[in-house]
Amino acid sequence: MSIKVPPEYPRYIKKGQFKSYDPIKVSKWTEEIVCKYVDGEQWRKYTSFYGAGVYRGISTAAVVGCNLRCFFCWSPLSRDFPERYGTYYSPKEVCENLAKVARKYGFRKARLSCGEPTIGRDHLLKVLEYVERCDYIKLFILETNGILMGLDRDYVRDVLKFSKVYVRISLKAGTPEAFTWKTGAIPQAFELPFKTIEYFVEEGAWGRFHVAVMSDPRIMSKEERVALLEKLYSIDPKLLRLIEEEVVDPYDTTLFRLKEAGVELDWSLWRSWFS
Ligand code: SF4
Repeated sequence: MSIKVPPEYPRYIKKGQFKSYDPIKVSKWTEEIVCKYVDGEQWRKYTSFYGAGVYRGISTAAVVGCNLRCFFCWSPLSRDFPERYGTYYSPKEVCENLAKVARKYGFRKARLSCGEPTIGRDHLLKVLEYVERCDYIKLFILETNGILMGLDRDYVRDVLKFSKVYVRISLKAGTPEAFTWKTGAIPQAFELPFKTIEYFVEEGAWGRFHVAVMSDPRIMSKEERVALLEKLYSIDPKLLRLIEEEVVDPYDTTLFRLKEAGVELDWSLWRSWFS
């Protein structure tokens, strides 16, 4: 069966040719592309299951598809062309494969990566149900850009029902303009990840989440950084103690996306940070 993709479906950002998009619409389109129902159960496309070195070792499932188009993204091109990549897996198969990889490497943690795991809510919640019952996996790290949970507090509550889940909410920008520049999404969507953080705070989920910020000084000015920190402070000052800061790394896919977006970064500066 061929997968229908709307002609306006956004791919990677191309300088001078890119039209900003509504990430909610892109979430729906992406869900239609990467998910399908089989006997009433939602399956999702994945490209691989592997052991990754981050978090001191974590079993990882590579999901297909995202609702943002960050120009610094390292994810494979399945992010941009989800119709071309991946195989559908049931939630049970996903958990079994995560556990298999975990056992192979002696990891007790698992995650979904390479795209946005909150697309396909029924699928994700079912995966989390299986993980909750899995003896081997002790911790599931849900890495999200916070777009979809910011639309619906119940999504946050549903995720928090699972005791093994810890959430990493990743912020891309500190102002609506910078958000549109870096992700290609409409500025109106800028608030959604902050709303997600607000929900976690209001649910009293301290210890169950933290905030990651793409605060690379090459793409975030001091003013933008201050604006972002002030926003977090206004939600709850304690959030400032939970921040993980990220920089842009030179993966092949990242270099390709930066080039297409017309963004030039000083890599000698990057090398100096790690030497
Ligand atoms: S960095 Fe994350 S949120 Fe941004 S496009 Fe890549 S996978 Fe999606």
